[in-house]
Amino acid sequence: MRQFLAAFQLDGARVAVLGEGPAAEAKARLFVDAPCDLLRLDPTSPAEILAKTLVGVRLAFIAVDDRAEVERLAGFARAAGALVNVVDQPDLCDFQTPALIDRGEVVVGIATGGVSPVLARDLRARIEALLPAGLDRVARLARDLRGAVKLALPDYGARRRFWERVLRGAPTRLALAGQEAEARRELLRALNRPEHESGLVQLVGAGPGDPDLLTLKALRALQDADVIVHDRLVSAEILNLARRDARRLYVGKAASDHSVPQDEIEALLIAEARAGRRVVRLKGGDPFVFGRGGEELEALRAAGVEAEVIPGVTAALACAASLGAPLTHRDHAHAVTLLTGRPKTGGAPIDWAALSAKDHTLAIYMGAASAGEIEANLLAAGRDPATPVAVIENGGLASERVVIGRLDALSDLVARLAPEGPALLLIGPTVALAGLRGEALVRREFAA
Ligand code: SAH
Repeated sequence: MRQFLAAFQLDGARVAVLGEGPAAEAKARLFVDAPCDLLRLDPTSPAEILAKTLVGVRLAFIAVDDRAEVERLAGFARAAGALVNVVDQPDLCDFQTPALIDRGEVVVGIATGGVSPVLARDLRARIEALLPAGLDRVARLARDLRGAVKLALPDYGARRRFWERVLRGAPTRLALAGQEAEARRELLRALNRPEHESGLVQLVGAGPGDPDLLTLKALRALQDADVIVHDRLVSAEILNLARRDARRLYVGKAASDHSVPQDEIEALLIAEARAGRRVVRLKGGDPFVFGRGGEELEALRAAGVEAEVIPGVTAALACAASLGAPLTHRDHAHAVTLLTGRPKTGGAPIDWAALSAKDHTLAIYMGAASAGEIEANLLAAGRDPATPVAVIENGGLASERVVIGRLDALSDLVARLAPEGPALLLIGPTVALAGLRGEALVRREFAA
């Protein structure tokens, strides 16, 4: 470590900015919301005035180009007891300013020794993305109740465990959600039953497989989880983002695969949560789109287990984006329906007539195997045989393959693509708008 990051308390502190222009403004802006006394000083003021005004200043920022002038001003500041930072002149600085993430009570600094401000900014953006939006409220909760917790738990180890529980538990979730009064109540309740750990199940959408398409909330859930229960559609790259010591349980989910029956999955989630663990039930796409998220949520609620749903980018959205074919379009498509190609046996039949208007986009999940039937049903219901269709395998992934053609050739298209990975059928006029990056991978059989 060649630098040391220290934190100055700003309450009531005097901070001075000497100079004008964008650099001075940027420094001053850092402090406008801080509880300090911010002095903007004109470096051309008479020396005695400068010297007098600088008395008691702790931090002085100098944004002046002329080196001799900088040294003169730095002399005044140091004589007054201040630490000096000179913009863009590291050799004249007593301290440098790290790249800062300012979340009120919580401040994160990244110092790269001035070697690479771009690296510092890049790191800042990444760390920023990991910090939840309501972090400030969590810190406030901790600050406000610190005394009460100390009184109730004089033992340091017990206190530390308590705070760990709070930070990963309901009080923090409530504070993050902006329910500060409830968060305090929950924290005090937890204080009264120190040994009871309450578990949680988060039903998390992992999106189509590209880690960049995870939500920030999903990423945080993964990094906090004790146990991850996942199925086949979740990519290894995404699982790698989880805490290293989290337990990963594969419960399958491919038609031909060994998979754990649904009721056993639900029982597993309930048992893990009841043991006080944070469980992430990770699903491809979105948990509530053909992901059995509904069934699992009902089972968790019935068991009295706390549950939360974190949405993900569902296959239809990922495929449409990847293809550049909008699902709705003011000129071409006024509605989109997400449909399963494999409805539950014995359930109500699909009303194909209702899906056959020419300005209606269909995104059919699990439909490759029944493409022939889907084609026949839509044609019989009056859908135009020339309607553009796309079959997309592994949409949004590097291994994506697409074939585009007409509705009356849908089953042939599927047969030719012969998908082995998950495949989606997109049907509707906007498919003709597809402008594809990997044209080489695409077989366009649709005569526009
Ligand atoms: N919950 C998931 C869907 C699970 S059902 C979601 O929201 O995306 C499984 C079906 O989803 C597959 O049969 C396929 O039709 C579709 N699917 C999932 N991932 C896909 C992908 N990357 N590309 C194309 N289709 C996909």
